[in-house]
Amino acid sequence: VLRTGEQYINAIKSRNKVEIYVLGKEVKDVTEHPFLKPSILSFKATYDAAHEEDSKFLARAWSPFINEEVNRFTHIHRSPEDLAAKVKLLRKLSHKTGACFQRCVGWDALNTLYIVTKLMAEKGKKDYYERFVEYLKYVQKNDIALAGAMTDVKGVRTLKPHEQKNAYLKVIEVTKEGIYVSGAKANITGIAAAEEVIVMPTRAMSDKDQDFAVAFSIPLDTEGIKVIVGRQLNDARRMEEGEIDALPYRTNHEGLVIFDNVFVPMERVFMLRDWQMSGILVEIFSAYHRQGYGGCKSGLADVIIGASYNLAKQIGVEKASHIQNKLTEMVLLTENMYSTGIAASLDAIKLCEDCWWVNPMFANVTKQLVTRFPYEITKLSTDIAGGILGTAPSEWDLKNSKLRPYIEKYLQGISDYPVEDRLRMVRLLENVSLSVAFLIESVHGAGSPEAQRIVLNRIYDYDYAEKIARYLANLEKTEFKDKTEPWRQTDTEKISQQKS
Ligand code: SF4
Ligand code: FE
Repeated sequence: VLRTGEQYINAIKSRNKVEIYVLGKEVKDVTEHPFLKPSILSFKATYDAAHEEDSKFLARAWSPFINEEVNRFTHIHRSPEDLAAKVKLLRKLSHKTGACFQRCVGWDALNTLYIVTKLMAEKGKKDYYERFVEYLKYVQKNDIALAGAMTDVKGVRTLKPHEQKNAYLKVIEVTKEGIYVSGAKANITGIAAAEEVIVMPTRAMSDKDQDFAVAFSIPLDTEGIKVIVGRQLNDARRMEEGEIDALPYRTNHEGLVIFDNVFVPMERVFMLRDWQMSGILVEIFSAYHRQGYGGCKSGLADVIIGASYNLAKQIGVEKASHIQNKLTEMVLLTENMYSTGIAASLDAIKLCEDCWWVNPMFANVTKQLVTRFPYEITKLSTDIAGGILGTAPSEWDLKNSKLRPYIEKYLQGISDYPVEDRLRMVRLLENVSLSVAFLIESVHGAGSPEAQRIVLNRIYDYDYAEKIARYLANLEKTEFKDKTEPWRQTDTEKISQQKS
């Protein structure tokens, strides 16, 4: 089925009790809790998009697994065009939410496990692939809301998983029926708004670390799971229930997920102690998620550009050449992030039959740009908006009849724009640009900056580039291998080396 947003909310309401904590207190109904409701609404947008005229052509896809149309957020990419549709959909959804809509991690996890279990099947371990495809059909048929959990808490970074006690999620016991796991996953986007979570290992493992090489899916209302929701900037404003200061009405959240001896039935285990595959899984997943950032972050940048332009008009400076320069720079930065995401999609790599993986070079470049450009864009929008971005009176001052006339008198710009419009736009800009979704997540989400640089450095063939230089310098007669880019074949070779 293609669920509607309402059906999604009802599904979350009808979960069994899940232990979710916000500001130290257990939450009864996440769909009504003021702290979490904006996040539920953002997640909901991924469902509504499949029914809205302006987005359903992007948000729907045909699944050969169940022979039905599915929400693209459960789709296994079948072509480079499918991958590009993902990036376009994410940009579009950012326009509808002004926030991270949180459903992409689970989607990337599905696509990753599809490839990884297929590679395992090629090596003779067919069970995992068969289980996974059954699970995929269930997710597609029911349009399940998935979160993805990769990041372990990691403890002392110089120590391996088996050298530490609680730093990585671990298999405690294996029975015929299933496995028991304990540990914690950190910074998990949208976790309280999901029905199920797909858990994956966070790094390459050695044979001594095999108890940590585990992937599975589990409904959030399973016994032993606890969620501690993290704080965000200005989050207490949501509790005020204002309709200006609490903007955007949609947002995202992250949480620490605790697995206290949780039982996972065997049909939901997609990797067990297969330590050799763990590094490949991480590489495939992280490239998928890094590609996505080219879509969602450029979409948020559109919101910021629009707000900056509007604020410039409100005070009559939109035609000033330095303002136009700043806006142009914001466009350039935005389209840079987006076009690398599109390039990563259209220049995709076919890893196996019906397995389309993003181009890892471009996907990593996308995310590396995203670690920088949102900060530049935010600086420029702060510049254009003026100091009012950090000092505007509150919604509650505006609503105070004694103060409102003064605020209207002294904060008026061009008379076409009521002062309330200015305050609303200032708050929107504040909430979108100075947010976890646009700043902190842009640095650390889908892997911190250094993680992408390691990949760039590893897959770029410096020796090949050196040969080009030596040939042009007349130092040697090089026989060029047939590569257009120094990294082109190296990368696929490396992946297939890992496969064998
Ligand atoms: Fe999706 Fe972007 Fe949020 Fe990741 S950061 S879940 S790609 S919207
Ligand atoms: Fe993210």
